[in-house]
Amino acid sequence: MPRTAFDVAVVGMGIVGLAHAYWCARAGKRVVVIDRDARATGASIQNFGFITVTGQAAGDMWSLAKRSRDVWESIAPALSAPVEHYGLCVLAQRPEALDVLQSFCATEMGQPCEVATRSEIEKRYPGMPLGKSLAGLLSPFELRIEAPRAIPALVTYLQKEWDIALQTNTAATQIDGTTIGTSAGQIDAQHIIVCPGADFSTLYRERIGNRNLKKCKLHMMRLADPGFRLPFAVQSDLSLVRYEGYTALPEAPALRNTIENEQSDHLKHGIHLIVVQNSDGTLVVGDSHHYGDAPQPFYESAIEALILQEFERVLGIPAPPVLERWIGVYPWGETPYFVEAPAPHIRLVMVTCGAGMSTAFGLAEKTVHELLEHTP
Ligand SMILES: Cc1cc2nc3c(=O)[nH]c(=O)nc-3n(C[C@H](O)[C@H](O)[C@H](O)COP(=O)(O)OP(=O)(O)OC[C@H]3O[C@@H](n4cnc5c(N)ncnc54)[C@H](O)[C@@H]3O)c2cc1C
Repeated sequence: MPRTAFDVAVVGMGIVGLAHAYWCARAGKRVVVIDRDARATGASIQNFGFITVTGQAAGDMWSLAKRSRDVWESIAPALSAPVEHYGLCVLAQRPEALDVLQSFCATEMGQPCEVATRSEIEKRYPGMPLGKSLAGLLSPFELRIEAPRAIPALVTYLQKEWDIALQTNTAATQIDGTTIGTSAGQIDAQHIIVCPGADFSTLYRERIGNRNLKKCKLHMMRLADPGFRLPFAVQSDLSLVRYEGYTALPEAPALRNTIENEQSDHLKHGIHLIVVQNSDGTLVVGDSHHYGDAPQPFYESAIEALILQEFERVLGIPAPPVLERWIGVYPWGETPYFVEAPAPHIRLVMVTCGAGMSTAFGLAEKTVHELLEHTP
């Protein structure tokens, strides 16, 4: 590759890198995105494509998610990957879960949400399977895109609409001032933004090492079309003891106690239920959470059985056949994300929780604004 110069070079074409590239291009910068793979294969296409606001921790994460959600909605018409469905319904199986939902609705974050009784949900969404659910939290915020379609569509959109250059099959191995050494030659850029996802060892190994990050392994699956359209994404009681937006509520410990008694295996494997639907009717269902420094790539049928047990319990229907199974991995740390400045013109950005799809655009907007303002 001939030596080339850009205003900004972004390492990583997952959602975090792409979101930074988007805001840099919108600021009028000439941008290149570098990735070691031919196309995105990381966490950004392994996920549910669930852009979720409700359940995020209050404050910063909630604001970033709201902003990101609005950006996804504004660009979705330009992507050849539409919003598949809007909103979320957290189905309560236990009275303790209903208490958490009601308490959440009374908070600022719960404002446009409502707790609907089972019969109200049945009336509004005929045909929606509800199992033995008592009631459900209905949130209007969420939207769902199909990540394996949306991420490549976002890359194409950035290339066509914002003239972003792409340098694939290229590992960035070293940064020296404004020069990036890559496996395909050198690239010069006034600003450099590194968004390496779960690669802890190539760039800024020491800085990343100092953060004691782990890798979180998740079990995911795609199920055959169940014969109905989901009006929204679905979660259950197990999500209420996982997401900080709920676990911070005073009613959450009682629910956790009950779940510890009744579903200890689910808690042990960090299982909670998310069900979303693709345009072809198939369902994406998960997930589990196991943490380590180098998670085994193997998929366990015992974990799958626990996830499907929750699916059947909550929706009250037999799980359709499993069509695909995969392991996903994202970086996990004590803070949900971090931004470091190894030099005034460089930023290292990592989302270190399971909410990068929901927060990347908001986070990138802030980071890019701050970077370009201080080092124009
Ligand atoms: C199974 C699963 C389900 C999830 N569900 C959701 C969800 O529903 N909603 C949500 O908000 N979040 C979800 N998440 C989290 C979300 O997917 C991640 O937070 C997000 O995708 C992280 O994006 P990223 O760009 O940091 O990483 P990645 O998508 O992994 O991208 C990093 C990229 O950087 C490249 N790279 C790294 N180092 C170099 C280098 N030195 N040179 C060249 N290229 C390099 C890699 O090749 C890779 O393409 C989920 C994650 C998983 C795994």
